Amino acid sequence: MKLIVTVKAYPTVTQSEGETVCVAGVRTDTATPEWVRLWPVGFRELPDAARFAKWQEIEIGAAPSAADARPESHRPNLQTLRLGAKVDTRRDWGLRRGVLGPLLGQRTLCELMGLQGTAAAPSIGLVRVRPGAVATIHSAPDWEPAKHLQAEITAAPHLLRDQALAVLRPPQFQIRYRWHCLDTDCPGHTHNSCDWEVGAATIKFNQKYPADQVQAHLLAKFGEQIVGEGKETYFFMGNQHRYPETFMVLGAFYPKERAN
Ligand SMILES: [Zn+2]
Repeated sequence: MKLIVTVKAYPTVTQSEGETVCVAGVRTDTATPEWVRLWPVGFRELPDAARFAKWQEIEIGAAPSAADARPESHRPNLQTLRLGAKVDTRRDWGLRRGVLGPLLGQRTLCELMGLQGTAAAPSIGLVRVRPGAVATIHSAPDWEPAKHLQAEITAAPHLLRDQALAVLRPPQFQIRYRWHCLDTDCPGHTHNSCDWEVGAATIKFNQKYPADQVQAHLLAKFGEQIVGEGKETYFFMGNQHRYPETFMVLGAFYPKERAN
């Protein structure tokens, strides 16, 4: 399949799969755009040249996941991964709108949650955020010792990789959104962002700014820039395999509001 990657979630570590990242995107080899989820992706195990970016097209062999019945879920064969071109935002985000096509704001979150339990219920969506959403920043909870240990084991050198990876840590901060979707009866939603970009920006900002300014810079980047005034904001939402009614914010699409 060919797809444009739109989501990379913060890595997790499990005993069975090691360190993995949930990747999602939009297929470009189907008649109309379709969502696809790829799991597991051992992203940091990939050689540098194979580490694809968000909004980059990739070609990869993948089969419907045997252990996960969600229609979008596929298990990728990373040996077949080929990287394609990146989709630029240019000045107007028009190219990215084109990739998303009818998926952009197709369903509200209330609607997605209500569909769970029906046949082939969608498990991914790009949901319009009603103006007035609020972002806050919080210290993230630490992991249990067993998870830290698993992260250390996973990062150690092995047969196919002679260099150790930096040991994965829990994110230092969480960005939390309190928001409404466009459903008329929306009671409001609260989500922490699972976007890998939050963790990556935290590491970068810790190197760039004094410690007491890091939170303010993170809040500017993931708060004001995404849900601030004048933005047409959408959240990439995906649900949890075992708790399908529980959706997570996996990333955002936030062009400037278009003048009508
Ligand atoms: Zn809602």
